[in-house]
Amino acid sequence: MIPKVVLPAGTRPDTLAVREGLPPSQYGENAEALYLTSSFVHPDAATAARRFANEEEAFVYSRFGNPTVTMMERRLAAMEGTTGCIATASGMAAITLIILALLKSGDHVVCSQSTFGSTIKLFQDFARFGVQTTFVSQTDPAQWRAAIRPQTKLLFAESPTNPLTEVCDIRALADIAHGQGALLVVDNCFCSPALQKPVALGADLVMHSGTKYLDGQGRVIAGAVCGPEELINERFIPAMRSAGLSLSPFNAWVVLKGLETLSIRLQAQSMRALELARWLETQPAVERVYHPGLTSHPQHALAMAQQGGVGGAVLSFVVRGGREGAFAVIDATQVCSITANLGDTKTSITHPASTSHGRLSEAQRQAAGIVQGLVRVAMGLDDIADIQADLQRGLSGLA
Ligand SMILES: *Cc1c(COP(=O)(O)O)cnc(C)c1O
Repeated sequence: MIPKVVLPAGTRPDTLAVREGLPPSQYGENAEALYLTSSFVHPDAATAARRFANEEEAFVYSRFGNPTVTMMERRLAAMEGTTGCIATASGMAAITLIILALLKSGDHVVCSQSTFGSTIKLFQDFARFGVQTTFVSQTDPAQWRAAIRPQTKLLFAESPTNPLTEVCDIRALADIAHGQGALLVVDNCFCSPALQKPVALGADLVMHSGTKYLDGQGRVIAGAVCGPEELINERFIPAMRSAGLSLSPFNAWVVLKGLETLSIRLQAQSMRALELARWLETQPAVERVYHPGLTSHPQHALAMAQQGGVGGAVLSFVVRGGREGAFAVIDATQVCSITANLGDTKTSITHPASTSHGRLSEAQRQAAGIVQGLVRVAMGLDDIADIQADLQRGLSGLA
């Protein structure tokens, strides 16, 4: 039996974020231990046999079980409000595991057309193995309903999306999925459980790129799937055991410690992002600003209801002068990191049309609203005045 942390019934999320995991080892460490070991030793051959046969719960081999990884899984599950969680090597490994664990040839998936680029590519790749995917509007539930087939097993959504922060109605998509006996998966990367708990809104599984806000300081690649413990045990652990999409204990430890500050980081970064978004709306060289916290956002009310009244730390804006204008604003920065990554305490700036969405054709980009003048900022913990001054430098040249 793997023991549990003893906490009073009803312990709240902020406390769980710093304490859920495993009890300390015999040494009584206060910070969680990093168990860098590939395998675990058994007291005798008969015990080893029982453990390999799943008749006795114990750590056996770090491809499918490691104490540091378990601590991260238990803590994230507690924060998402699910009974189970399985950590993966990356966010993309989490989606691959979902497909391997739940789908077979002949099955059908409905997915938002605005999800992360590699997510779309991965679902398209699985057509080679007989899993078909229909891509539909992020914001129109009627399109999701119309795409349902008797073979539909999974609905996959992400909210808000990158870089336009489009919000989908999680409750409505859950109802559509359940009407068909399918499962709804939500990629909760942008909000994290600090702002949004998809399972409380009816979703069945929550997928994470731990690379972003869960780590929160741009150090590791990591991922996870949160959901019902029985489903994780019956479908995901066997798939993990054979496919080996495992998270390393070291990366799990970094994410585990990142979860302790997740809530205060996301609140602080989101506050700065909203302030920056409001300021950008007043700038003459800025044609449009996208942030769920702005009243001008098309799904503002829905976002506020789903995300605890907080818009998140990512915003985008369109500048005058197309690609040249956007490049001028990016190149005039002296503080922002020019990188497509997000979720870091260091504010980052990027040009989606030539980076994250560079593989699309110009027509596809236009249809998706990823125009050449679009700039995305993922707000970190930098002082807002320094980031405003950083952007002002380039924007003054365009006005
Ligand atoms: C980064 C990202 C992913 C992929 O995660 P990796 O950890 O890079 O594999 C998936 N979804 C969203 C929304 C992301 O931003």
